[in-house]
Amino acid sequence: MKKTNAFGITEKFWDFIEKYLPDYHERDDVLRQSQLQLYIDGKESAVAGEGLAEDEAGDELHHILYNLYAEAIDAYTKGLGEECGNCRTQQGNFCSACGKKLH
Ligand SMILES: [Zn+2]
Repeated sequence: MKKTNAFGITEKFWDFIEKYLPDYHERDDVLRQSQLQLYIDGKESAVAGEGLAEDEAGDELHHILYNLYAEAIDAYTKGLGEECGNCRTQQGNFCSACGKKLH
């Protein structure tokens, strides 16, 4: 159970991933990640019927999270991700309103 928090995932981390991960809302791995997290937390989950041991679920969860972080950071460094209403009017390297890398 403590293993679940090994990465110290915070809401801000998730905000970052949601903002920069390409196709965040349509990805199977994001869905899988949330189902694994629910399973590990002892809540109702779509993976409950798979008979995963908790450490197996945790390993898979961490593997997915690693990939999500890596992809989100990669997209960020390329200036991808959603734009806020102010991005287009900014001249610097970063939007002063949302922090997105612009160039
Ligand atoms: Zn912005």
